[in-house]
Amino acid sequence: MKNKPHFKIELKPFWADGTVKYMDISCSVGKPEIKAGQAIVSYCRNVVSIPFCKIDGDIISFWDDQGEIPAESHYAGVLSSFMEMVEWRAKRDTAGDIRYSYRVFPRELPKDYRSSPYFDFRAEEGGANGAGITFLAVPPQQEYCISLKWDLTSMPEGSRGVWSLGTGDVSIEETPNLMQFSYYAVGRMKSVEDGDFGIYWFSEPPFDMDKASNRIRDLYNYIAEFFEDEESVYRVFVRRDPFEKSGGGTALRRSFMFGYSAKVFPTVEDLQNMLAHEIVHNWPHIDDEPAGVATWFNEGTAEYYSVVLPHRAGITSLEQVLEQIEGRAAKYYGNALRALSNMELAKIYWEDRRAQVVPYGRGFFYLANTDSEIRRVSDGKRSLDDVVLELVRRRRRGEKLTSETWLELLEKELGYSPREKYDQMTEGTLIVPDDEAFGGAFEIEDDEVIPEGASDPMPTYKWRIK
Ligand SMILES: [Zn+2]
Repeated sequence: MKNKPHFKIELKPFWADGTVKYMDISCSVGKPEIKAGQAIVSYCRNVVSIPFCKIDGDIISFWDDQGEIPAESHYAGVLSSFMEMVEWRAKRDTAGDIRYSYRVFPRELPKDYRSSPYFDFRAEEGGANGAGITFLAVPPQQEYCISLKWDLTSMPEGSRGVWSLGTGDVSIEETPNLMQFSYYAVGRMKSVEDGDFGIYWFSEPPFDMDKASNRIRDLYNYIAEFFEDEESVYRVFVRRDPFEKSGGGTALRRSFMFGYSAKVFPTVEDLQNMLAHEIVHNWPHIDDEPAGVATWFNEGTAEYYSVVLPHRAGITSLEQVLEQIEGRAAKYYGNALRALSNMELAKIYWEDRRAQVVPYGRGFFYLANTDSEIRRVSDGKRSLDDVVLELVRRRRRGEKLTSETWLELLEKELGYSPREKYDQMTEGTLIVPDDEAFGGAFEIEDDEVIPEGASDPMPTYKWRIK
């Protein structure tokens, strides 16, 4: 760790009324040599509709060898089409190492809030958790020797600090991007841990946490093995939502967070598919268009494998698979916006919740059909798994993957161009389920549905176990 500059992060939460009231963030960066007018740090004012924490006094203070660095915040535009950036720019050249600090408050939820991506840093009884993207201001993206340190001197005894990739104080060679897109939890947390695998929560949930932990563990082991993963680090963070429409999950690097409502009581069976979905997200991923929204491949593979892998593992029955398919059919075929193209959906993605659901179902049914097609062409010797696993292997080697990589690998399996069907899928053409989808275990009958907000019936399908 010699040639890279250091980036030290120290997090110091303060405890009051049974939870984290605010957190001081103190950082230092090794000799960045910022020129007057350049950004010393940036942060994401808004990530897919989730705001950055309130900063005390709206001030970040900076120092270097010459004392305080005068600096000003500027709106810096939208990055990757889903992050609104703010930069703090130096008003003079800097000299030597830089230190900066600020205080953030956990997010106060707006009224009538419902589950959204779990990026926000939020407090509940016992502590606070959230993703770095909503509380970390970071130096320019490059590799650093990053160290994370927790100062728990203003926290009650027994408090801990946990990060997606490590507990307590941690060092790693990485870019600040990793620190932003990973999870942090601090407080008097409960946990189940086994080496670098852990599950962390504060309030006692209304479901059987022992059973949930075992289920997460079983799912993780099977799914990680399927995706040929040999790393042991994986962490799951749990939060209690104070609102009713909860039950969501968000996956970040080698971790995910899920929420449950304090007002409705889910069972482990209710949670099961969401847990599997978030775990699958750790592996298949392409840089797909449109950026910043759910896409057919990333959500489609999470949907597809969250249904088929638990069944292959013997965790779910065929009846449960059927239920999952029916639920997805209702959301996709019964969606008035299902004929919009992927690009059109992205435009209204954050205004219309119906638009958010379509890529999930579209990807799910397209992948299920693709699986049958590969099996048919190869006389059952090959399947969708071969394509997806090859994508996962390439990603592990650091290759950049796009929909073109998908098409190229798929063409190799099929022996003909998959582009026409692919284009139809991205343009919003109805996906008619293949009779042999899901190993031909189901009979599929034509049906009709009148989607919410539409007046004419549209085709849908009834699934029955053969
Ligand atoms: Zn997902």
